[in-house]
Amino acid sequence: MIKFEHVEKIYPNGVHALKDINLEINSGEFISIIGLSGSGKSTLLRTINRMHEVSDGKILIKGEDISKYKGKDLRNFRHKIGMVFQSFNLIDRDNVLNNVLVSKGNRLNLLQTLFKFYSKEDKIAALNSLDKVGIVDKAYIRADQLSGGQRQRVALARTLTQNPELILADEPIASLDPKSAKIIMEDFKRINDEMGITIIANMHHVDTALKYSDRIIGMNNGRLVCNCKVKDMTEDMLEKIYEGHEKEDE
Ligand code: ADP
Ligand code: MG
Repeated sequence: MIKFEHVEKIYPNGVHALKDINLEINSGEFISIIGLSGSGKSTLLRTINRMHEVSDGKILIKGEDISKYKGKDLRNFRHKIGMVFQSFNLIDRDNVLNNVLVSKGNRLNLLQTLFKFYSKEDKIAALNSLDKVGIVDKAYIRADQLSGGQRQRVALARTLTQNPELILADEPIASLDPKSAKIIMEDFKRINDEMGITIIANMHHVDTALKYSDRIIGMNNGRLVCNCKVKDMTEDMLEKIYEGHEKEDE
């Protein structure tokens, strides 16, 4: 489904964040990207929906070079890819349902979005997504009344309402307590198993990555140093991924 060919990313400030990344991701996989802070996980993830542009090499999705999309095509391309962030990105003063419906805004003009002019079908789709993550009973509650775990579930529902084939999750559980983190990871797992949506998630905790995903991609200083099925993971590979830890902490 997704193929990286010799991908490089050099930021304008000269930081070489991705170095010769070659990688294939199959449809329906649950992938965790692990590595130290600054190793290039977010950059890698964000090149897939072109939030960041690559400096060299290319990324193909279903055989299409994604760099070709411009204007409306680029917006449509991005709309098919769900994104979940560490900080949830909700509108605090609005209710849960409207927060989910935001993902339908892409098709509406600004005035329609401002006045929350959504069709009955859109509302049903949004309620359905909330039901899938078990919080449909919170639909008319203000987002700021929810716990962190519930807020991330709203973000997940918002993403599901886009009908994505792929969800990119950048540290989705980093701000959550262990109990909420478990619930969110189980939601991802269910979404992956039952809906067949491909999931690529950046993660700090190796244990969590090993527990929920099919494959681990390990990054170290911009390089892909591990790409293996969970069952093939070894101590040696973990060492390669976390090499240089002390140095970074200084
Ligand atoms: P991670 O998600 O693994 O913590 P990042 O992809 O965020 O790593 O960062 C990789 C490297 O690129 C780091 O050295 C970081 O400082 C740098 N970097 C990230 N984003 C930018 C940016 N927008 N401009 C310049 N440098 C950046
Ligand atoms: Mg990051």
